Amino acid sequence: MSERVYLDWNATAPLRPEARVAMMAALDDVGNPSSVHHEGRAARHRIEQARERVAALVGAEPRNVVFTSGGTEANMMALTPALERAQDKTRFDRLIVSAIEHASVRGGGRFAAHQVEVVPVTPEGVVDVAALGCRLDELKRQGLRPPLVSIMAANNETGVVQPIRAAAAMVHAAGGLLHVDAVQAVGRIPFHINDLEADLITVSAHKLGGPHGVGALVKRSAALHLAEPVVKGGGQERGARAGTENVAGIAGFGAAAASATVSMTADGGRMRVMRDRLESGLTEGPAVIFGRGAERLPNTCLFAAPGVRAETALINLDLDGFAVSAGAACSSGKVAPSHVLAAMGVSNELSAGAIRLSIGPGTTENEIDLFLKAWMKLLTGLSKDRRGLAA
Ligand code: PLP
Repeated sequence: MSERVYLDWNATAPLRPEARVAMMAALDDVGNPSSVHHEGRAARHRIEQARERVAALVGAEPRNVVFTSGGTEANMMALTPALERAQDKTRFDRLIVSAIEHASVRGGGRFAAHQVEVVPVTPEGVVDVAALGCRLDELKRQGLRPPLVSIMAANNETGVVQPIRAAAAMVHAAGGLLHVDAVQAVGRIPFHINDLEADLITVSAHKLGGPHGVGALVKRSAALHLAEPVVKGGGQERGARAGTENVAGIAGFGAAAASATVSMTADGGRMRVMRDRLESGLTEGPAVIFGRGAERLPNTCLFAAPGVRAETALINLDLDGFAVSAGAACSSGKVAPSHVLAAMGVSNELSAGAIRLSIGPGTTENEIDLFLKAWMKLLTGLSKDRRGLAA
């Protein structure tokens, strides 16, 4: 097979043509966005236009968008005891995260390890908001300070969409703040910071058709102040993130955000049809689809076939021309059991076979059918090998 089939959009989505055009144009500019001359102002204009576009995608005010080097840095930026509200400058002394967060959230950001608590998820991979509510009540009863809470919008492995609005209501009633790692959701499903009442959200460009190495932390209110920047130096990004901005990357991010704003609804419908086709094909054989009973992103399918190891499947599928992932791509290279599936109560044995297929608006029916054929070929080959060994 000569053409490759890319089914790993949750790791990185292909660059949108609009993003490429915007980046190429920005690369030809010479100015530093902090310079006051014409060239500097032109570079500044590109950044501010991108800020407006990213803000529009998530329903925020442009002044509340802080550009970063990606989702990881935005998470680090958000998860700090030094998060100040205009009316209350007390530091946070506790961070509550869900058991299925990305490593950059599970690491606790700038909180000490003993300050980080974990809330469980249901067997379908949905954050247990009742457990969160109990913990918040307990903190209140004990007279302890309200926490910062971080819950992702949609899981990168299962695609399961999380109950952000319910969590936000609970966290706010308890006097805390909610950060949402929305890296996998933004650009794929509608995600509006005000509707969902998230206080801070993390976005990453390369998940929505922008370039690698650019992201943003978006605040719901300008009254929220990040008192201790991760990167200190010049006063860029209103003092929240020093260093000369990645103008071309930010311009590409903005163009991708604008494109996603327009295409998201139609893309979502198309991807859902393809994902359903994929899953009905997979379940004609022995396959368990994780989180299938929950609301999921329209593009993600995490599955396993008992007895098939993910590494074996990945290598064979790659040789056959298919790019897929085992669990979280961010930790690929090392094959560790998925903490997400462990939190859902999936056995290590089944989890060792978990394969993530994540599609995009460009994924075709033909590609899905080719994948299913290759998967069936793999299953047949493996069962022949097993029979051979048993003989
Ligand atoms: N959060 C989630 C849910 C992710 O899936 C990822 C990357 O896969 C990140 C954060 C990190 O984003 P970035 O690659 O931009 O650092």
